[in-house]
Amino acid sequence: MAPVPQSTEAPANTPTVAPTETPTVAPTETPTAEPTKTPSPTLTPIPTRTPVATDKKIIAFTFDDGPDYDTSGMLDVLAKHNVKATFFIKGLNLEYADYQPIIKRTAQEGHELANHTYIHPDIRNLTDEEFLLQQTKTNDKIKELTGQTPTLFRPPSGNYTQHLLEISPMPFILWTIDSWDWYRISPNPVAEYATKHNISEEEATNQIANQILFEHGLGYLDAPAAPLVSRLSHGAIILFHDVHPGTAVVVDKLLTYIEEQGEYTVMTVSDMLATIGTGPTQGKIYRSAWPMN
Ligand SMILES: [Zn+2]
Repeated sequence: MAPVPQSTEAPANTPTVAPTETPTVAPTETPTAEPTKTPSPTLTPIPTRTPVATDKKIIAFTFDDGPDYDTSGMLDVLAKHNVKATFFIKGLNLEYADYQPIIKRTAQEGHELANHTYIHPDIRNLTDEEFLLQQTKTNDKIKELTGQTPTLFRPPSGNYTQHLLEISPMPFILWTIDSWDWYRISPNPVAEYATKHNISEEEATNQIANQILFEHGLGYLDAPAAPLVSRLSHGAIILFHDVHPGTAVVVDKLLTYIEEQGEYTVMTVSDMLATIGTGPTQGKIYRSAWPMN
């Protein structure tokens, strides 16, 4: 395998003891450590994956809050570019008959299905049992519909506690780059932009997508940020949502840019972690391919 490009990420910090709110000591690095007392029924090892052979830098695309009607458009874009991504699924959506064929298609097309809770709560307000139920209900529904068992979890809005991380059977996956798609290119801001500039919504979507990617990566309340393409880095995880039609336009343009530039390959989070690092690991939290803890 060709040399992997240098990472700008610091390696994991030395293991630390959990912050004060947890009565138990954080799990140590040694696999022989006694499991902490936990109500979790399924602290089974996460299956290892085969690293992907590539001489390019690696980046992972993630999509939250689906499935939704707009997921289909995103799947079309990913298929067009032959890219596999990770979808963090909200379990409640899978109760709707209309969305069930969409998650089946997502699985059939080789994407990774991951867990984003059942009803999208702030997990910091949940008891241990409620938290684990959010995970198991979602995993059970995904397995029932697709046969896949998710091994990654993303807490809604990135909110979590050290204690919940420790009792979670699945590692927590946050993100390196926030596209701010929900704030900038969801239906309301697109409609406002179209009215303001007296252009069609299609043209508004096109212009906003170009701004997000290439001009100014404005975030929440228009806080300045560099254009998204200038923030790409080896091992980065990009946060999108597959519930806004405009996001598919952003992703289509970004994948076209990545193909023309030739520096990066895009893969699922689990494949990236297996290729660059040591694979997803229980008790770890990731903002990139390398754990923070
Ligand atoms: Zn979410």
